[in-house]
Amino acid sequence: MDIETLQSLNKIFQAVEIQPDWKLALDSLLATLRHQFVYDNVAAYVLDRQTGGQDVVYARAVGRGKSAEADAAWGDSIAGQVLLQKSPLLKEPGDILPGTDRLLQAHVLGVPLYMGARLEGALVFVRFGGPTFAEEHITLAQLIASWTSSLLERKSLQEARAELESVQRQMRLQDDFVSTISHELRTPLGFIKGYSTSLLRQDANWDAATQSEFLTIIDEEADRLTGLIENMLESARLQSKTLQFKFQPLRLDALIRDVSVRVATHHPQLEVRIDAGTTPTIHGDSVRLSQVFENLFSNAIKYAPGSQLDITLKTHGRKLRVAFRDYGPGIPEDFIPFIFERFYRVPGERSVTGTGLGLYICKQIILAHHGKIWAESVMDEGTTFIIELPADPLTQDTFIQEQSNVQTNSDRGR
Ligand code: ADP
Repeated sequence: MDIETLQSLNKIFQAVEIQPDWKLALDSLLATLRHQFVYDNVAAYVLDRQTGGQDVVYARAVGRGKSAEADAAWGDSIAGQVLLQKSPLLKEPGDILPGTDRLLQAHVLGVPLYMGARLEGALVFVRFGGPTFAEEHITLAQLIASWTSSLLERKSLQEARAELESVQRQMRLQDDFVSTISHELRTPLGFIKGYSTSLLRQDANWDAATQSEFLTIIDEEADRLTGLIENMLESARLQSKTLQFKFQPLRLDALIRDVSVRVATHHPQLEVRIDAGTTPTIHGDSVRLSQVFENLFSNAIKYAPGSQLDITLKTHGRKLRVAFRDYGPGIPEDFIPFIFERFYRVPGERSVTGTGLGLYICKQIILAHHGKIWAESVMDEGTTFIIELPADPLTQDTFIQEQSNVQTNSDRGR
C-alpha cells in the first residue's frame, strides 16, 4: 500500500471517528468513497433476533431510483441470501434488450455485516444500468461493511449507555424516595401518636377546647397520611397502567371552579382568578382531572406561598388549553425537564414536604386523556403549568358553530 492510500484511509478513519451520530458518520464515509465506489442506492439490514426477520437500519439513495430510499424492499431478498450463504453475493440483470429502462437493469451487491464473530446483517448496494461491480468494488464493499458494523456497534453501545444512565437516575430517585417517604409517613404518624397519647393520659384533664384542637390535628394528619398513601398507590397503578378511567363529557371550567371552591375552604386567603370565556366540553374523567388541579393548587400553595393564581382556559384549534399561573419564585430552567418524573423533587426543596409524585401523577392522567402538560417558568416571576386536552369530538363541531355565531353576533354589535 503506498503512502497516499494510507493517508486517505487515515483521513476517512478520522472523519468517521469524530462524528458522534452513526448515521452521519456512515453518510460521510459513503460520500468520501463515492469516486472509488459508484452505486445508486445502499441499505443496511440487521437481523431481528426476536422476530427472525430483518430490519432496515440505514438506507440512502444517491443516484437513479431515489424512491428506493423510502422502502428498501429492493434489497430484502439479496440481504436474506447473504445471511444464508454468509459471503458476498453479486446479482447481475441478465440479458438486456436494447432500449430497456436502466432502472430494470439492476446490478446488486450484498456483503455480510459481522459484529465481532457474529453475522448480524447485510449491506446491499444497487447500481442501475452498470457497469457491473468489479473485484475491487467487492473488496471495498466489504471494507465499508466492516466500518458499518463498528458504527452499528457504536450505536447499540450509545443506546445501552443512555438506558443505563436513565436506570441509574431512576435508582437514585428511588433511594431518595425511600428516605423522603419514610420522613413523610413518620411526620403525620408522629402527630397522631403524640396527640392521641396526650388525650389518653389519665393524669391530664384537658378542657373541651383543647380536646377539640388535638382531635382536629389528629383528623388532619390522618387525612394527610391517607392522601400520601393514595398518591403512592395511584402512582404505582399509573405506572403499571392498571388505573381505570371513567370518561364522560364534562366542562373543565366548571370542574376547575369546583376544585377552587374546595381549596378555598382550607385556604381562604388564596386569591384565584379564573378566566374561562366560552370553552368546549371535553371527554374526560372528572375525578382524575380534579386530582390534577388539586395537585397544581397544592403545589402553588407550597412552592409559591402567598401568590395569586391566574387560571385561563382558551381554545387552541381543536384543543382546550388551560394555563395555571403562579407568581412564585419559579423553577430553575435546568430542572424543568425532570419535574414530571416519578419521585423527582427539585434539589433544595427539602424544607417543603413532598414526595415527587404529584406532577408525575398529573402527567400520567393528562396522557391518558391524550393531552399534554408542560411547565414554563421564569425565576422570580413565577411558574405556569399548561395543559392541553382534545375537545370532545362529539360536541366540538357544535362548539365551533356556536363560536362562529358568537363572533358574527358580536361583529354585528360593533
Ligand atoms: P412534590 O411537591 O411532592 O415534591 P411534585 O411532583 O408535585 O412533587 O413536584 C415536583 C417538583 O416541582 C417539586 O419538588 C417542586 O420543586 C417543583 N414545583 C412544582 N410546582 C411548583 C411551583 N408552582 N413553583 C415552583 N416549583 C414547583
